[in-house]
Amino acid sequence: MKHFNDLKLSGIWKKLQENQRLNFEDGLTIYNSHDLIGIGFLADFVRQKIHGKKAYYVINRHVNYTNVCINRCRFCAFARDEGQEGAYTLSVNDIRKMLSQSSQQIREVHMVGGLNPSLSFDYYLEVLKSIREILPNAAIKAFTAVEIDYLSRISGLSLEETFETLKAAGLDMLPGGGAEVMSERVRHRLFPRKIGQNRWLEVIEMAHRFGITTNATMLYGHIETIEERVDHLLKLRQLQDKTGGCSAFIPLAFHSKNTQLSNLPSTTGFDDLKNIAAARLLLDNFPHIKAYWIMIGEKLAQVALSFGADDLDGTILEEKITHMAGATSAKGLTRGQIEHLITAAGFAPVQRDAFYEPVDRVEVYHERA
Ligand code: SF4
Repeated sequence: MKHFNDLKLSGIWKKLQENQRLNFEDGLTIYNSHDLIGIGFLADFVRQKIHGKKAYYVINRHVNYTNVCINRCRFCAFARDEGQEGAYTLSVNDIRKMLSQSSQQIREVHMVGGLNPSLSFDYYLEVLKSIREILPNAAIKAFTAVEIDYLSRISGLSLEETFETLKAAGLDMLPGGGAEVMSERVRHRLFPRKIGQNRWLEVIEMAHRFGITTNATMLYGHIETIEERVDHLLKLRQLQDKTGGCSAFIPLAFHSKNTQLSNLPSTTGFDDLKNIAAARLLLDNFPHIKAYWIMIGEKLAQVALSFGADDLDGTILEEKITHMAGATSAKGLTRGQIEHLITAAGFAPVQRDAFYEPVDRVEVYHERA
């Protein structure tokens, strides 16, 4: 008989053993509990049932093509107005040059940026084609639902046509950001110009219908309530029940430095681990839960492998967005450093591609398709 310091967790343990789905109240119980070891035990039970001792990572690089953005969300330290100090936009040639210097071992290019009115739809297509040409072994994971909605508007194409066109140019996958927390209350206060939850869900569902897998994220640690976190997770679970197109969930710890919310404290290690565990427990239909070391630091991400996470993301070259908001993590890790984090925690590293296939079984994507 398992003993929990917080007796309320016993009910959740019973449900897990009976393969019962957790509900909204269970989500609140997890978030309100201070029995972190108990919560970790529950999440690790589920994690090991799905993945055993495997822990995934990918050799990837980031491309943040512009930080000029018309939305200017209050929580964002990355965005600038056109002409403002620090504003930048990479030309197609800049990106080609940058990628030409990258290793062919890269299996995933993660690309997101601001909504920059000076860029045409053709620019995006050229960038996708360039990545495909220069790094043929890499899957292209690009554009949040917010950018996809924007591209549909500037191109005058329907959402379906937008996806068709982007896919033909090389788009493989969406990183899944942009919903932040699906709460109209939070949206009105922090990101009023950004698309709302209905449009976000519509875009992601359409991506899945086109065979484009996505991740999904949640930005936590700002003004959201526990109820809003649980509600967000359950909305994602509902979407996944419908489409099955999400591969990983990534909790994103809010960094307030250089934002309009710089008065807010950083998230705590306790809360970071709890979010990973809550996600593993509530998102029973998501294959993977990612501990994004850029946001929570390498050491806590390593610990998170025992709290429900099965993926450490990747080596990541040139992360800009979180570091502009004060992240103190490294700007990139070597393959050896990531594998060391995994093995030192007692897990078995699996180098994966963007679709969670072990890389030694992977062929060049565009030849396979
Ligand atoms: S979060 Fe995204 S949409 Fe919002 S201001 Fe920053 S770059 Fe623009």
